[in-house]
Amino acid sequence: MISRTLCIVKPDAVARGVAGQIIARFERAGFKLLAVKLLHMTYEQAAGFYVVHKERPFYKSLCLFMSQGPCIVMVLEGDAVIAGLRELMGATDPAKAAPGTIRRDFATSIESNAVHGSDSPESAAFEIPYFFSALEICSR
Ligand code: UDP
Ligand code: MG
Repeated sequence: MISRTLCIVKPDAVARGVAGQIIARFERAGFKLLAVKLLHMTYEQAAGFYVVHKERPFYKSLCLFMSQGPCIVMVLEGDAVIAGLRELMGATDPAKAAPGTIRRDFATSIESNAVHGSDSPESAAFEIPYFFSALEICSR
């Protein structure tokens, strides 16, 4: 089924100049880019995005990391794109990520792990409008 997901090339990957290589993998996978922007989140904006993790011990550090520099947020569309993107990304911890995955190739720690992808249709339904209005999503 054709669906949409919210993807972020995180500040570590943008700063290291590997965003293009990561986005090329999405294109190679056949995902369609419906919206994209570069933005530097405030701590509060990152905290709102990751509110689902607010009780987790890594929350504050994660929000500091996500607001340390610009990231690239995008909406991707494709057949089973939510699971497909998660597969391309690899496990949260790059040490556990399979060979050939984005995190295995570009992440430097469990926190600075290069990419974000929505983990379910419910998450995507919260995350896409967090960054994009309907008018910013190219759907034709
Ligand atoms: N994270 C972290 N320490 C952890 C687990 C997660 O710093 O022990 C960070 C990491 O950047 C991760 C993000 O918090 O991508 C969100 O965690 P989640 O469990 O949702 O992982 P993901 O869905 O990104 O694989
Ligand atoms: Mg997650």
